[in-house]
Amino acid sequence: MAARVPVSRLALLGAPGSGKGTMAHKIRLHFGITSVASGELLRDHIYRRTEIGHRARSYIVAGRLVPDDFITHLVMRELQQRGDDGWVLDGFPRTLPQAHALECERVRLDAVLCLDVPADTIRQRLSSRWIHARSGRVYNTHFNPPRNAGRDDVTGEPLVQRLDDRPDAVVARLREYRERTQPLVTHFASRGLLHTFAGTETNKVWPEIHAFISSHVRSLG
Ligand code: ATP
Ligand code: MG
Repeated sequence: MAARVPVSRLALLGAPGSGKGTMAHKIRLHFGITSVASGELLRDHIYRRTEIGHRARSYIVAGRLVPDDFITHLVMRELQQRGDDGWVLDGFPRTLPQAHALECERVRLDAVLCLDVPADTIRQRLSSRWIHARSGRVYNTHFNPPRNAGRDDVTGEPLVQRLDDRPDAVVARLREYRERTQPLVTHFASRGLLHTFAGTETNKVWPEIHAFISSHVRSLG
């Protein structure tokens, strides 16, 4: 059974395709901490054709970050619904104004886990990534293929590529990451919250993150 961590507030920082979603999934399985994934929230709105989805779509397709106020509002609302159980933020904060907004709202982070993956690996991963649109399940044709080519393992439904995994959008996302998200590395380091995990293989990085959470995040039980 998963060990349950009563209170822990983590954020994952890393380039597109660095494995934030995969790590968030593993953290939930092993520690029972659920994630709040800003990109998933937006994709769900797009899938359900809501007004929020309509506003976000053009930014996402172009590989640009959505406006700070817009995403901050969405994530804060989600966090308020979660109560005090703890969570892993996947994809938020991703700019300095977003980090400051969390501080203004007195949302405390226990640790920021930064996934440091080389740019070549990132580009390769994004071009071979396929997802199941309704659930957000992620596959990779190289290292995590579905059992039946092009089909989701659970529902058998067809897989699709994310709109922002197309090459021109990937270039824009990597640029946004360099220019607007990387400054957060220094920001969180100066607050003593940053813990960096480097590597090209998720399966090798995960044991380090597991060990870190086991030993650093508030008492286990
Ligand atoms: P990956 O899912 O591979 O790690 P990613 O980090 O680029 O890649 P998501 O976090 O799913 O992907 O975000 C997808 C898109 O949603 C972003 O390119 C951006 O347009 C929008 N988005 C998500 N989170 C934020 C945020 N905190 N601020 C601004 N835009 C965001
Ligand atoms: Mg993701």
